[in-house]
Amino acid sequence: ESRAWHEALRAQFPMIAGNPDVAYLDSAATSQKPQAVLDAVMDYLTTGNANAARGTYPWANRTTARIAAASSRLRQFLADSSDVSGVHFVSGTTEGLRVVARDWLAPQLRPGDEILVPFADHSANLLPWEEAAALTGARVLPLPYDTAHDYAHREITVSPRTRLIAATHVHHVYGNDMNVHRLRALAPDVPICLDAAQSFGHLPLSVTDLDVDFVVFSGHKAMALPGTGAIWSRNRRGPALTPAGWAGSPNTSGIISLAAAMDWLDEAGLPRIAAWNRALGVRLTEGLSAMPEYEVLGCQRSLRADSPVQQRHGIVTFRHREINSNDLGFILAADGLLVRADEHCQAPEGEKTSSVRVSFHVYNSPEEVDRLLDCLRRLR
Ligand code: PMP
Repeated sequence: ESRAWHEALRAQFPMIAGNPDVAYLDSAATSQKPQAVLDAVMDYLTTGNANAARGTYPWANRTTARIAAASSRLRQFLADSSDVSGVHFVSGTTEGLRVVARDWLAPQLRPGDEILVPFADHSANLLPWEEAAALTGARVLPLPYDTAHDYAHREITVSPRTRLIAATHVHHVYGNDMNVHRLRALAPDVPICLDAAQSFGHLPLSVTDLDVDFVVFSGHKAMALPGTGAIWSRNRRGPALTPAGWAGSPNTSGIISLAAAMDWLDEAGLPRIAAWNRALGVRLTEGLSAMPEYEVLGCQRSLRADSPVQQRHGIVTFRHREINSNDLGFILAADGLLVRADEHCQAPEGEKTSSVRVSFHVYNSPEEVDRLLDCLRRLR
C-alpha cells in the first residue's frame, strides 16, 4: 500500500521520472518539484501575472488575494490557531534568520545580554546572531549537545539575560530532531527561533505543539521554487516583527509555488512522508553498519530503542575510513548516485568533517538505497 502511494507520488516529479538512471540523493540541498507546483506557477504566469498590492484592476487584485491566501495557508500548515502571528515571505532561511536577528533581536539587545546558539549547525543559524551581538555588545553562547547532537542530555543554562534561543529543528548533516520541547521546558519565557530548513515540508510541524516564537524555512527544500521561504512569528514573548523597510514587490510566482507545495504535501500526507524518509534512512544506516570501513556520523543515540525524543529524519552522513569523501562523491556520481560530498556549510566553530551526505525525500525508493549500498560495497 505504501509502495503504490510512493510510486504514484514519484511519477509526479519530472526530474525523477525523466531520469530513471539517476538516483537523486541530495534533497537536503534542494528538493525536486512535483508537476502540480510547476503547473501552478505556469498557470499564474500565463493567466494571472500582475504585481501585488499595486492595482486598481482585477489581475493585480487577484495576485494580492493569492499572496494573502498563501499567508493563511502557511498558518494553517503550521497548525497555528493564534490570532497574533505574522507571516513575512523572504527568499529563504538565510535571509529569514538575518531579518529576525537584525530587525527584531538587535534593537532589543543591551551589552551583556545573551543569545543561545547551536555552534555545530548551519552557518546561516550562527552568523546573523553573532552579527547582532557584535553590534550591541551582547554575547553569543553555545547551545550544547552531546556527540549524538541531542539537546536532551546536556545541561543548558538559561540566565535572566538570555534574550533568544536559536534552535535548529532537524540537523542538516546528522538528521536528528533537536528536542525543541526540552528547550521550551527549560526556558518557558525566552523566545525560540526555529531554523526549520530541514523539517518544513518533511514532517508535520506544529507551532502550537512546539510553542516556538519564530519558524524560518526555505521553500526550495520543500517542493517549491528557489528564492522562496518565510518567517512565521508570534509576538507572545516580545515585540512583533516589523522588518525595517519591509516593502517592495513580493516574489509572486514563488509564493504561489509555495502555496501549491503546501497543498501537495498535505495531500500526499506529511506523517506518511516523514515515516517513508525515516525508513529509507534506517535502511541505509543499517546497510552501512554492516560495513566496518564506513563510519556513520552522529547516530549513536538515535538508533537506540530507548532514545528519549530524538528521531532521525531522512539524512544520513558517513565517511569511508580511507577514501576521501570528495573522491567518493565523484565515484558515486559516475554511477548516477547524486549525493552531497565534502563539508556541509557548518559554522566555523562547529566540527568540520569531510563526509558524504545522503538525504531523501518522498520520491526516493528503497531500490535507490540498495543501489547506493551496492556501489559502496563494490569499493571494497
Ligand atoms: N539552515 C539549515 C539547517 C539548512 O540546512 C540550510 C540549507 N542547507 C540553511 C539553513 C540555509 O538555507 P538556504 O540556503 O535555503 O537559505
